[in-house]
Amino acid sequence: MVDFRRLEDALVEGKRVLVRVDFNVPCDNAGNITDDTRIRTALPTIKYLQKKGAKVILISHYGRPGGKHQAEASLLKIVSPLSDLLDTPIAFAPDCVGEDASQAVNDLEPGNVLLLENTRFHVGEQKNPNGLKGYDPEFAKKLASFGEIFVHDAFSVSHRSQASTTGIAETLTAYAGMAMERELDHISQALNNPKRPVMALVGGAKVSTKIDLLKNLVTKLDTLAIGGGMANTFLAAQGFDVGGSLCEHDLKDTALAILRAAKDADCEVLLPVDVVAAENFAAHAPHRVCNLDDVAENEMILDAGPQTVSKLLDAIDQSRTLIWNGPLGAFELAPFDTSTVEAAKYTARRVQEHGLIAVAGGGDTVAALKHAGAAEGFTFISTAGGAFLEWMEGKPLPGVEILKK
Ligand code: AMP
Repeated sequence: MVDFRRLEDALVEGKRVLVRVDFNVPCDNAGNITDDTRIRTALPTIKYLQKKGAKVILISHYGRPGGKHQAEASLLKIVSPLSDLLDTPIAFAPDCVGEDASQAVNDLEPGNVLLLENTRFHVGEQKNPNGLKGYDPEFAKKLASFGEIFVHDAFSVSHRSQASTTGIAETLTAYAGMAMERELDHISQALNNPKRPVMALVGGAKVSTKIDLLKNLVTKLDTLAIGGGMANTFLAAQGFDVGGSLCEHDLKDTALAILRAAKDADCEVLLPVDVVAAENFAAHAPHRVCNLDDVAENEMILDAGPQTVSKLLDAIDQSRTLIWNGPLGAFELAPFDTSTVEAAKYTARRVQEHGLIAVAGGGDTVAALKHAGAAEGFTFISTAGGAFLEWMEGKPLPGVEILKK
């Protein structure tokens, strides 16, 4: 387990508490919020602080405005939904530093909540003026000057070193907020201190984005199941003709090296033993189940076959902990979502009925599990993409390092 400072360790009563949240919610073209999960994720910390009589100052990034004010990237859109969810008025400052922000901070009474405008409207959030890596320390100091205590509650940005995260921690002691705490407790238990046997299901499009992840996982797991487009590279490396499938032929040696590393570490690797192939990358394209040595030149592997699914379910039965990243097929296109849906539903059932610990995160994973109707059934689903992957890669995350005791 990671030994880090938690919100409950901080004396927050009457204090100005600067809370780094992640309000980077998805919006449609008209600017309407399409998924408020990230706002809801921040509620426990905010409510706790309000109850303790702290003055709550929320900071977040939104989008990629590149250091300039951009109307579409304003956090003003968060005020009304946040206010509704908390049933409390939310003050808003049109800049995260400067006179207006300073005045808004000074106006706060215990229990009040203030949201500052997008930190990425300032270039110093992500750029150092001297061309060094990181952020502008002067900008970080200005942000830090508003608080007496810093609470980092945005695990999803903890793989980055920015002014509003690690920068503030140069001046103020940083504590993990409740959402951060939940993330760290769950993912560190699943990867670093799991109930064994522990397996991972890793899918998705490409091996190239997951080399470090696979290399680290094989040293930690009892079983690694590889699916999705990336499995094709492993099959090709083993000499199978994958026809017109998505495949990174230049990474065949890397795939073989990962298989060797797994063997050395006593990690069993499960690859597809049969596949679903089609000539077109389209929903409901004519398709067939075939053996690995039977994929035609003009066919693409778009999903795992029924024998593979049955092997995966057996492996899930044997496991007490499961880590899931990436879909096992082209899940956006029915019926090539079958293996992902079946494995996800089965995982959720094992969680309910047998106490399996199932933790998922990264990229398209949440969308795939929601599509399967299984997301609610997992023990924990990370709100993070890159940060989840980097944790699983075994890399130290700067935003977590600042919380360590
Ligand atoms: P990633 O972002 O790496 O997790 O990849 C997710 C994407 O991989 C999804 O959009 C899937 O449709 C895609 N994918 C999974 N399996 C396949 C496959 N066999 N062929 C093509 N794309 C796939």
